[in-house]
Amino acid sequence: FLQLKRVEKHFGNTRAIKGVDLSIEKGEFIVFVGPSGCGKSTLLRLIAGLETIDGGSLSLDGRDITHLPSSKRDLAMVFQSYALYPHMSVADNMSFALRLANVDKAVIREKVQRAAEILNLVPYLARTPRELSGGQRQRVAIGRAIVRAPKVFLFDEPLSNLDAALRGQTRVEIARLHRDLGATTIYVTHDQVEAMTLADRVVVLRDGAIEQVGTPLELYDKPANRFVAQFIGTPQ
Ligand code: ATP
Ligand code: MG
Repeated sequence: FLQLKRVEKHFGNTRAIKGVDLSIEKGEFIVFVGPSGCGKSTLLRLIAGLETIDGGSLSLDGRDITHLPSSKRDLAMVFQSYALYPHMSVADNMSFALRLANVDKAVIREKVQRAAEILNLVPYLARTPRELSGGQRQRVAIGRAIVRAPKVFLFDEPLSNLDAALRGQTRVEIARLHRDLGATTIYVTHDQVEAMTLADRVVVLRDGAIEQVGTPLELYDKPANRFVAQFIGTPQ
């Protein structure tokens, strides 16, 4: 469904992504893990079209998207920093992309309402982000992605600004959301618990290359090497 072939990215002399091959099935929940600086965000941003690619190709649903601008890729990215518009209401934040695309007002209202119901945000639609908790803001950022009904959801450490309790709760909500919507999802985290509980398959990255891809159980039971074992937490 989403295919990466020999994907390369350089920053000056740094080879940040080194010939990554990956094939993702429709509806899969894929988690990228690996140490700081291994290239998780860069790989996600290449898929999103937020970085230009230096080699290789990307295709989504049978279409070559390697050089398509981000807005034409049919993906939605949720950032760690939420990136909400502070002076707009929750409803307006969620509908921003649809309003830009001149979608019919009644359709927008219905989509925002439906997303707000899924995310328990109905009571907050008229508030501004300032009047929300961190967890509620993060749900607005997710809602903004949902209303666009993208083919793929991309998350870059969405829970890292939340405290432990809220992180656990929001993690469960993201899992439920994936079950309900069945959308293909790529999720970046450095948290092993998030990786092991959310993923259909985990991609372990090291130094811009893939060390191993497998289900959480496969990685735990049969780590390809000591690096994966240490990262996943398999007893040695
Ligand atoms: P973290 O867990 O800390 O978020 P990461 O796995 O997301 O790390 P990336 O942000 O993808 O890592 O960075 C991969 C490599 O590319 C790092 O060596 C980083 O310094 C480098 N890099 C990333 N973005 C840029 C940039 N805009 N300019 C130069 N180098 C960059
Ligand atoms: Mg990162």
